[in-house]
Amino acid sequence: SRKIVIKIGSNTLSNEDGTINHVFIEELCNQVSFLIAEGKQVAIVTSGARIAGISRTNKWSRKEDMHYKQALCAIGQVELMSAYNSHFSQHGIYIGQLLLTREDFFDKTRTLNMRNTLFTLADEGIVPIINENDTVSVEQIKIGDNDTLAAYSASLWNADLLILLSDIDGIYDKNPKDYDDAKLLEQIENIDIMLEEIEIGQSNSFGTGGITTKIEAARIVNRYGIPMILANGKTHDILMKAYNNETKATIFLPE
Ligand code: ADP
Repeated sequence: SRKIVIKIGSNTLSNEDGTINHVFIEELCNQVSFLIAEGKQVAIVTSGARIAGISRTNKWSRKEDMHYKQALCAIGQVELMSAYNSHFSQHGIYIGQLLLTREDFFDKTRTLNMRNTLFTLADEGIVPIINENDTVSVEQIKIGDNDTLAAYSASLWNADLLILLSDIDGIYDKNPKDYDDAKLLEQIENIDIMLEEIEIGQSNSFGTGGITTKIEAARIVNRYGIPMILANGKTHDILMKAYNNETKATIFLPE
């Protein structure tokens, strides 16, 4: 069966007021359940723990020191998983949580264990939900963005496709948030050539990696022969549309 890794960015998971977008999570779970009913296996890489933590503990929102950030992630991770859990259970689907760090991907025994867990969960029809383990990952040793985490996870699991859901339709020749006439690049076969043709702008509010880490994620998975689609999480039924090539998006094809 086809294995798909789906990564959801913070901007997609949050409302404009900085709270978690539960409607989005519900729709995402509906779409993933549909893909599973069609015989596909799906793993999710989710951001948003910190945002979920902030909406839980408003009084902390201005505390910027690292221990508070990590504490917010610890709190928000539970909120987030509880949202996924309740929506997936409507479809009779169970989830399993994997909290990973950079070091895990560079250790032979750990990667083997992670691989086996991923395969077992998916074979049993359970949706693995992956996030970085912020409690143990201090800034210096972090993967730092979930685009890269998603790319590592897709490679580790030998996925057939990686889909990154963001708040834009794909890669543009310049930041679509700043330029109305920015043009979408629909298919990318050579990342280096593409990089010479586009302008990379700032990413906004809650995002961490920006567009650069998405391009680098494509480079990682393409090296393993895995295509990557960057698409807009706000588009209705985006997963089916992206999978069937029925929407505006950017696909990175391995050479
Ligand atoms: P996410 O939270 O989904 O991971 P980010 O906010 O980190 O997303 O990164 C996506 C943002 O990158 C977009 O909202 C867009 O404003 C910005 N961006 C900058 N340059 C470009 C470009 N050339 N093409 C597309 N997006 C771009």
